[in-house]
Amino acid sequence: MCGIIGIYQKDKKHTNAAKLAAYALFAEQHRGQESCGIAVSDGNKISITKEMGLVKEVFTEKKSKKMDGKLAIGHVRYPTKGKSNINNAQPYLLNTLSGQSFALVGNGDIVNYSNIRKQLEKQGVFFESENDGELILKYLVFWHIKKGLSIIESIKKIMQNFQGSYSTLLLIKNKIYAFRDPYGNRPFIIGKKDNTYVFASETCCLNIVNVDFIREINPAEILIVDEKGLKSTPQNPNNYRTSNHNAHCVFEMIYFSRPDSIVYNHKVYDFREKLGQKLAEKESNIPDIVIPIPDSSNFIALGYAKGLGVDFNFGLIRNHYVGRTFIVPEQTIRDEGVTQKFNALPDYFKGKIVTLVDDSIVRGTTIRKLVKMVRKNGAKQVHIRIGSPMVKFSCFYGIDTPTREELIANQKTVEEIKDYMGADSLRYLTIEDLKNLVDNNKEFCYACFDGKYPIKTLPQSHQVPKDKFLF
Ligand code: SF4
Repeated sequence: MCGIIGIYQKDKKHTNAAKLAAYALFAEQHRGQESCGIAVSDGNKISITKEMGLVKEVFTEKKSKKMDGKLAIGHVRYPTKGKSNINNAQPYLLNTLSGQSFALVGNGDIVNYSNIRKQLEKQGVFFESENDGELILKYLVFWHIKKGLSIIESIKKIMQNFQGSYSTLLLIKNKIYAFRDPYGNRPFIIGKKDNTYVFASETCCLNIVNVDFIREINPAEILIVDEKGLKSTPQNPNNYRTSNHNAHCVFEMIYFSRPDSIVYNHKVYDFREKLGQKLAEKESNIPDIVIPIPDSSNFIALGYAKGLGVDFNFGLIRNHYVGRTFIVPEQTIRDEGVTQKFNALPDYFKGKIVTLVDDSIVRGTTIRKLVKMVRKNGAKQVHIRIGSPMVKFSCFYGIDTPTREELIANQKTVEEIKDYMGADSLRYLTIEDLKNLVDNNKEFCYACFDGKYPIKTLPQSHQVPKDKFLF
């Protein structure tokens, strides 16, 4: 997943872009909790701070104040591939022998990462990480410095040759470039107020930096902001892809994005309520009370309870100081996290028919333990309702579902999962129902539900040129 942010302040009196970036990253903390970083430019020199840990721990008031500059880009990391260490933290900074500096942050995954990296390594390019951001940066600078292409033309090379998902920000000393993959897979938006421009993964960070939402960045669009203002280089995304459709990640609206964000022109909280209402339409087991598994299923459960006209309450209390279980990289840590994470309020369970609502079941580690907890607290029956279809396939576009073996819906039937959970009944939303709730539903990726992977790049005849090259 990951979250990115870019700040450009045009007014001479403002030089606190890094501080604004830290605020905005804090609002995007749900998109990644492993590491965070900010690159800031005073118009001349780029400096970088990145560390393992949360934004509020790394970017203290004191530290942010020292990072003077009118341009900044930032990143919060959620690990998909690559180890959990500082080498894989973004931004990446590249200082060339000719004295130019480039910093980059990106959100997404490059499917043909190994192939492109090998091509560059053969030309003498050195990598310090296993991170897509470093690959994009070095590929781009390779074409720009070595082959003399403009930055825009170098970005187009990426669009021709990289298969996958990348919402990206490039900082050079007095400019920020923003570009998005031709399928528009991860969310990417722009906001503005007066002379401050903000690029971000999600709209939920715009309030805290006091700018207004302008629009989404289009698939394959390249934007530049500098002292002349904002300029777009719109492109036809079909020049770079095998289908005429976008592939927005539908899971962003179900689980990842914050409910107060607008993602792909959908209000996330509203969309989640509709998922719940849709589940309620086909319900035959009417419970005494509906309980969400907090937090991402809150609005789904609310919509479901409203649809049925039954009680809704927060019977499970989540400890917010434990990370989201789904995005912690190792299974051992995840399991411990689940038991530390929730407490039940017995009054909402004792002697009742309870329906627990969740947004999805990926590995099934959380719900099984919660069913036990709810029964222990006196529930007469425990039903489970899921506001999305069965997750049967891995995601290769920036979400941590590395193998199909880890996905419980790929291993078991609905009945078997219900038994494994120890629930009285289990029902998922159907893929047809999900699609019916999505505006322009052809423009979305549903691959983790149906296995139809939409992101493919047109075959290209050229490779990285065979010249020895040092930056
Ligand atoms: S496979 Fe699933 S999680 Fe990945 S981009 Fe597609 S819809 Fe999103």
